[in-house]
Amino acid sequence: MKAPLTGMSIEALAEYVKSKHLQRFRAVQIADWIYRKRIWDPDEMSNLPAPLRMELKTDFSAPSSRVETVSSSPDGTEKLLLELQDGNHVEMVVIPGNDNRTTFCLSTQVGCPVRCVFCASGAGGLVRNLAAGEIIEEFLHGTKKTGNLPDNIVFMGIGEGLLNFEALETVLKHLTSPEGFGMAPRRITVSTSGIVPGIRKLAALKKEFTLAISLHAPTDEIRARLIPDAFRYPVAEVLKAADEYRDTCGRMVTLEYTLLENLNDSREAALRMAEISRNHHAKINLIPYNQTNRGFRRPAERVIREFQETIEKNGGTVTRRRERGASSDAACGQLRDRAERRR
Ligand code: SAH
Ligand code: SF4
Repeated sequence: MKAPLTGMSIEALAEYVKSKHLQRFRAVQIADWIYRKRIWDPDEMSNLPAPLRMELKTDFSAPSSRVETVSSSPDGTEKLLLELQDGNHVEMVVIPGNDNRTTFCLSTQVGCPVRCVFCASGAGGLVRNLAAGEIIEEFLHGTKKTGNLPDNIVFMGIGEGLLNFEALETVLKHLTSPEGFGMAPRRITVSTSGIVPGIRKLAALKKEFTLAISLHAPTDEIRARLIPDAFRYPVAEVLKAADEYRDTCGRMVTLEYTLLENLNDSREAALRMAEISRNHHAKINLIPYNQTNRGFRRPAERVIREFQETIEKNGGTVTRRRERGASSDAACGQLRDRAERRR
């Protein structure tokens, strides 16, 4: 597979143009197209000489993905199914919010090795990691759709970003650096199933990225029913890493909690989550399960409300994820699931 052109730093582009015996300003022009004009198909880079445009297309995968389908929900959520250069698929979602704000939800892998039992993304395991440039292209497709940079980015699409750390780190750098897209780290949320070494590596960047950890359960016993052994870390270790993250990066950590009927929705679990929220100064984000026909059910609305109230009344901080796009397969990985079944 060829390297995507997107995700190349200006230094890397400078090396490339040098190898072609061209002047450095050509690298600056290419970076300007990608990072300022958000144009990444060399054919459209009108101030480059035609031979260079052709060479870029030969040497790189550019563009390295195309929008296969867009599915829109009545609430305005748009989910883009992207086909990659090797025929694999990932998704990115454009989520509208209040006051014209938009959030992009990005994928980091094709499939996912963690294989949480309720999640469509992990059903077939990991196919491959995404290259940094492929993740940047998801972002670029989003900006092309909206005409603008997003207000927020969440890495809550397909895959476990902290298990593709090198690419994720490169993407975070391009998203936040002034030569890149210049976004504030606080506006970027990295969501993880609780990969402890990955949380430490993210903390070591010492940036104010928002960290969301998919805890889903207050005890190892319940958690073991949702996340298979291979990539599951003990609750105590995950919470310790969360504390370290908060202390190093100065950001309150969010604990995501996908609510599943009769699995993790008991009053006892809510009480323990309240305790965890208090002891770790963490915010709990409830995500009522989005049905994907995997044999799991979302709890009744009354149970969801009681779960939230129990946490609140016992001194915990809790929010409920605003559900968007539920009508158009917006739960993680569902579009890809279908596309792959068609192949
Ligand atoms: N791998 C990372 C990020 C991607 S999943 C992680 O697990 O955190 C993002 C969030 O979506 C996770 O909290 C996950 O539990 C949740 N999720 C996955 N499938 C879901 C579904 N069908 N309904 C509700 N939440 C789901
Ligand atoms: Fe992977 Fe996250 Fe899905 Fe678990 S919930 S299988 S970690 S994408």
